[in-house]
Amino acid sequence: MADRGTANTMSSTGEASPSMARVLVAGLPDDVVSFLEKRLASSRVQLVVGVEDVLRHLVDGESSLLVVDHQFAASTTPNLISRIRSQVGLKHLPIVCTLDRDLADDLPRHLVRDLGVNQIMFHPVDREELARRVAAALGVALLPARAVDSQVKQQATTTLKALWSKFKDANLSRVAVLEEVVLAVLEGTLDLDTRRKGQREAHKLAGAVGTFGFTRGSAIGREIEQTLQSETVLGPADALRLSQLVVELRTELERPVDLPDQGEATSIVAATLFLVIDADRNVAEQLVLAATSQGMRAEMALSLAAAREIVSRTRPVVVLLDSSFLDPTEDRQAFLMEMSESTPPIPVVVLTARDNFADRVEVARLGGRGFVLKSLPPSDIIEAVLQIMNQFQTADSKVLAVDDDPHVLASMGALLEPHGLRLTPLSDPLRFWETLKEVSPDLLVLDVDMPYLSGIELCRIVRNDPRWSGMPILFLTAATDRVTIGRIFAAGADDYVTKPVIGPELVTRITNRLERVRLHRTMAETDFVTGVATSRKARQVVDHFLLLANRQDQPLCLAVLDLDDFKSINDCHGHGAGDAVLRRLGALLRREFRGSDLVARWGGEEFILAMYGVTKHDGVRRVAEALDCLRQQKFTSADGGAFSVTFSAGVAQFPSDGTDFFALFRAADQTLYQAKGAGRNRVLPTGWHPDSDQDWPIADVVVVDDDDVLAGLLLHALESRGYRTRWLKDGEEAVSLLGGENPKLHGKVVLLDVDLPGLNGMAVLQRLSQGGIVRHTRVIMLTARSGESEVVRALEMGAFDHVAKPFSVPVLLQRVRRAIDL
Ligand code: GH3
Ligand code: MG
Ligand code: MG
Repeated sequence: MADRGTANTMSSTGEASPSMARVLVAGLPDDVVSFLEKRLASSRVQLVVGVEDVLRHLVDGESSLLVVDHQFAASTTPNLISRIRSQVGLKHLPIVCTLDRDLADDLPRHLVRDLGVNQIMFHPVDREELARRVAAALGVALLPARAVDSQVKQQATTTLKALWSKFKDANLSRVAVLEEVVLAVLEGTLDLDTRRKGQREAHKLAGAVGTFGFTRGSAIGREIEQTLQSETVLGPADALRLSQLVVELRTELERPVDLPDQGEATSIVAATLFLVIDADRNVAEQLVLAATSQGMRAEMALSLAAAREIVSRTRPVVVLLDSSFLDPTEDRQAFLMEMSESTPPIPVVVLTARDNFADRVEVARLGGRGFVLKSLPPSDIIEAVLQIMNQFQTADSKVLAVDDDPHVLASMGALLEPHGLRLTPLSDPLRFWETLKEVSPDLLVLDVDMPYLSGIELCRIVRNDPRWSGMPILFLTAATDRVTIGRIFAAGADDYVTKPVIGPELVTRITNRLERVRLHRTMAETDFVTGVATSRKARQVVDHFLLLANRQDQPLCLAVLDLDDFKSINDCHGHGAGDAVLRRLGALLRREFRGSDLVARWGGEEFILAMYGVTKHDGVRRVAEALDCLRQQKFTSADGGAFSVTFSAGVAQFPSDGTDFFALFRAADQTLYQAKGAGRNRVLPTGWHPDSDQDWPIADVVVVDDDDVLAGLLLHALESRGYRTRWLKDGEEAVSLLGGENPKLHGKVVLLDVDLPGLNGMAVLQRLSQGGIVRHTRVIMLTARSGESEVVRALEMGAFDHVAKPFSVPVLLQRVRRAIDL
């Protein structure tokens, strides 16, 4: 962290850490003042009690913003504002004015247009929203919210408790249905009807119980529903998972309602949209500021514990984590896992001072989404994070709500906003069509009864237009009779909520619907058989990676993989076994290349991988590791026979092999064909040359070892990473080929075993050393006993390195890589 220059900690406005801002509040209750005081960073909030008091405080020019209620000076509040502008001369002082909604229509317009009021907020004032607007106007950060509005919570709790006692039994009998389904899965007797029935019940549970504070119950319901919904045959692992879930679900629903605790998740707590975790408060504040100035809400945490606390009460859309938290402790690992395993996963982007491959791999393994360099200015960091996010997630969801009652719309806005749902309220159904086109919402909420055009008519119009036919539509209705509900669904609605609207219920219904849409969208981007991205999605992501790689001056590598002799696998073991291979390879690649890498099925038995920030050689290494994994997997054919499979791959790098998708693809594909030609079952980098002639005088690695098994293993591992190799079995042969005035064979690296028949390794080394060969060839001694004196003697004779037997192949490969690179 010491290398962080001061220039980088400047805010996007170019000012160093801002001095204290002073906010004056006039005509609003004390608790609003203390709330603002708690939420605004670097600010003092002061209550002022009379017109003269306001003017006195403003004259000194020290105040940065005024929040004033229209009743503060009775009918003369506009007059007061006018005096502030003209007499005091504060033409640009930001002013937020709060007022009653039912005031004459032209008052808000007068305040904004003629008196330069910057923000209008209607009663009842959402304090969270007020704090956010004030923070944005001042350019200060919002501090984490601690206290939940206890009054609102209390009300919701009472209503929900009463409702739950009414609905509990119905929900428990749904659980009973699921228990039967699980039993059938365990016994292998699940039929389609039972499965569909279970799916429906799980769906209902997911929709219903969240409203009563059983957030976990709702999530379980959704997971069960999704499992049953998929087309795949449920195996023993699914059965186990399902039975655990159902047990957990019953326990959850049978415990007494404990809404004050549970209520946290569903009550009106501001959702953090952007969470910055950095031990350095200064850096964290700058980043929060930069995020806020780009119109986002942001919070900061100085420790993982604080971050957990924030995550537990609100859901960030992204976490920006400083790499100092990557020190190998249990805790950070657990934290990253928690983020990636929550539903939906919370993406983590790591902020790093150094561009370190090991860190990248580690974070990707744990589910991190990408890296941003800390040396960038804060605003660029935020921009880069958004770029990374864009490829994974759509921005906040937009909701268009049509209701002729403005009070309903107002309270709906307050309910949805904290959950990252942006509401466009529309009280005039006649302006529906133009607003729909303008807003292009993700979800529509319609009131049933409205003048001129009813919600049901609007719904029909929407459903008849192909552009909107897939959009979720939710109805608000006071009538719950069968006829009305029937008409709603007949018009094409997805769901309905009864009036009066209970906040958590509406939110749960809306988010459930949106999640479903997202799921469908994901399905179009996911290959059905393998679970990896489709080729169409791959093109988009790679194009995006290229843009980013270009802008941030980062490498990018693209690998093309093709299963070896797949046709004969289908022929010998059946098409079903072939499909199973594809599925398992998909799962394996997804596991090995998590996080920021792209895995896609290009078509047939061909896959592509794109790794951002990774060079060709590291790419080859990672793909070869996946190949090692695949080789070890055992498959069974329809007739019970076991077999294993391999693939070949070519790896190309941006920008040296090409700067657009097709150039890179072509380079990787040509290399793939070289890999096929060289005997398959290997991963090669572009620029590899075939060792066509056995007498070719140059090898990357010469293995001198008489142990066939060990040598076979090494040669294989080396060749599948694209190294040209030679194997020599005894010391005499090694000296005669590698030594002498004009060596017949030149090896960049020689792996020399100490225990050799005839001439032993030490003697070979001595001869090579005398002939000056060790000046061009790096000899790595493989010693059986790590006899220290032997090692010292070898190094004195010019050996480059030594590795004690028994060794792990990856370690040896790493030493070989180092010997070649240095
Ligand atoms: P090579 O090592 O040269 O790649 O040989 P190959 O047999 O793998 O290559 P070839 O292109 O001759 O055959 C590809 C085979 O892959 C033919 C096709 O039947 C099979 N295949 C393609 N898609 C699928 C699929 O979705 N499922 C199954 N089971 N087989 C598939
Ligand atoms: Mg093939
Ligand atoms: Mg093929």
